[in-house]
Amino acid sequence: MKPWRVWRCHNGALCNAHYTCQNGKERVNLRVMSVPRISKREVSAAEWQARVDLAACYRLVEHFGMDDLVYTHITLRVPDAPDRFLINPFGVMFGDITASNLVCVNLSGEVMHPAGARVNPAGFIVHSAIHLKSTDAHCVLHTHTEAGMAVSALDCGLLMLNQKAMQFHNRIGYHAFEGMALAEEERESLFQDLGPHKAMILRHHGVLCVGEDVSEAFSLAYALEISCRVQMKILASAQPYMIPDEEVLEQTARQLNGFPVPPREREWPGLLQLLERVNPGYDA
Ligand SMILES: [Zn+2]
Repeated sequence: MKPWRVWRCHNGALCNAHYTCQNGKERVNLRVMSVPRISKREVSAAEWQARVDLAACYRLVEHFGMDDLVYTHITLRVPDAPDRFLINPFGVMFGDITASNLVCVNLSGEVMHPAGARVNPAGFIVHSAIHLKSTDAHCVLHTHTEAGMAVSALDCGLLMLNQKAMQFHNRIGYHAFEGMALAEEERESLFQDLGPHKAMILRHHGVLCVGEDVSEAFSLAYALEISCRVQMKILASAQPYMIPDEEVLEQTARQLNGFPVPPREREWPGLLQLLERVNPGYDA
């Protein structure tokens, strides 16, 4: 039997309830959960493009196994409204996020639009800590993966065991666990602990990456996630491991961080093509 393929909503971009699917010759309607949406014509061109990029990122995070049900968030500053941010509607799985169902919030996590949308304001604390003070971290991507949480609890933190990890050599922050990050008072220490870096390990919690755009945040989060998975496999082997000399680590970090072509011109177009194949409709 051929795998089910989800086609675009047959009622148009604003439909909440019907997707037409195809299994070989058979076509059926699937009911999907109803969430508030906003149409392309109701927002600026810049906000719509940000919505498309961010929806793609949510679906890619799910595709690569970096999601945690409906928890954790990826946020993106609205380009032409710098004190507003896009975030996922609470309760929607990452693979079902679309450009139209993302929610625009202010720095307090209050919903601007679409009307009636539900977000997780407590979850926004970690993100607003960065967005509030940083002028270039427009996208904040936070995960609770098993590998990320495992490394976050290790006293040694992230080890420089492979070249993906080495891009974070002396370039990653650590934030001590202060209980669930629900209080606005924790925003200051979160921002301070990130420092000049683009990645941070939240002890006993997960990891966080920031980027000037969605593609950079995703690229860093993917590299950090793979680094954590590899580290835990190596440690699980209980075999002695080697770490290159400091000079080599620093050289590799500079090489990887100085790559002349940004992620949006490297893997991002291919990742969007991947979504067209495995989970189309993010741009609806
Ligand atoms: Zn979290």
